[in-house]
Amino acid sequence: MRQNLVAGNWKMNMTYQDGLALVSEITNMVADEVTNSDVQIVICPPAPFLSAIGRQLPQGSNFHLGAQNCHQKESGAYTGEVSAKMLASVGCEYVILGHSERRQYFREDDELLSQKLKAALAAGLKPIFCVGESLDTREMNETNDYIGKQLQNGLFHLSNEEFEQVVIAYEPIWAIGTGKTATSQQAQEVHAFIREQIARAYDAKAALDTTILYGGSANAQNARELFSQPDVDGGLIGGASLKSRDFTEIIKSF
Ligand code: PEP
Repeated sequence: MRQNLVAGNWKMNMTYQDGLALVSEITNMVADEVTNSDVQIVICPPAPFLSAIGRQLPQGSNFHLGAQNCHQKESGAYTGEVSAKMLASVGCEYVILGHSERRQYFREDDELLSQKLKAALAAGLKPIFCVGESLDTREMNETNDYIGKQLQNGLFHLSNEEFEQVVIAYEPIWAIGTGKTATSQQAQEVHAFIREQIARAYDAKAALDTTILYGGSANAQNARELFSQPDVDGGLIGGASLKSRDFTEIIKSF
């Protein structure tokens, strides 16, 4: 179901104590607004804090717990890894997959991401599947081709029922952590393109029903303008999700 959604990706930041304090500030600061609105908020802390942060989120509210990654296998001899089933067992509802940092630093390709998607869905998690182009690709006018392939090869193998569970995040690599945000027009163009591709791969209803987030230096100043675009349903937020005031301003930007 298409929703207004803001997800905070903490990446490898925060200590356990800082994380608990941040979540308590966020939930206190937006308690009333969130109860009276339909915005969904997903907090994605580092894996060791998931269980404790999950317990701190108001139960039965618009706050949800998400992980930043999962392994493609259900269990086994994979030292240091965390399975989707484990994430679900500590209360995760979402998992970020295909983030450009994982694609770049951990060489996650379409084939591996396809397996991770299947594992996440089998465990009942909703994947937040990231796509996005580099600056070179944009400057060569190949953004749509590139994103079309990421969708085709990484995501569109899912059945209709599986695809219904997926949130897509458009994250231009050149905008992530750089302070350079895509203009709202650039974001809208790519989001509309993604919706067209969904309509081709599935159908018009699937295209209309899919939640598509923008990510890349979104902040308290630019969120309102970005979220006002017809095909932008919210944001995947990195740096600004680490500051309670900024993150709560973004939550209030619909
Ligand atoms: C991200 O990592 O998903 C992200 C969008 O980061 P930032 O907001 O810091 O650009």
